Amino acid sequence: MSVSIDRPSTWVKFTGPKLCDGCFAGCCTLPVETSAADLIRLGVMSEDEASVSLKKAFRRLHKEGIVRSYHPPTGLFILEQRAGRDCVFLHPKTRLCTVYETRPEVCRSFPKIGPRPGYCPKQKSGENRR
Ligand code: SF4
Repeated sequence: MSVSIDRPSTWVKFTGPKLCDGCFAGCCTLPVETSAADLIRLGVMSEDEASVSLKKAFRRLHKEGIVRSYHPPTGLFILEQRAGRDCVFLHPKTRLCTVYETRPEVCRSFPKIGPRPGYCPKQKSGENRR
């Protein structure tokens, strides 16, 4: 059975970072939840802006194509995705994170946390990505 991003039951057991070699970065095509602290660390939101109004900050970040949505009850934002569902911070050619040092907490914890903890949508570059 081939791996499908949308069907975690098809994902492969994550055996360690070596598994990432040659992968097209399927994990970076999943929706990424970020907190205000993540966005501050990424350098796209200031502490002052966060303390004034997260809704207002969302409107600016949305306009700038950095976040797609904001959920006030949780205070969480979803990062914008490009065509093909790539994270806005994923380099389209190298398939590497362009903000690796300051990436959001969920990216640091994947695949320990995620749709299927301990598993990832490993696919080599060029494989069918459905
Ligand atoms: S922030 Fe970096 S690690 Fe996280 S999904 Fe985007 S490209 Fe991947």
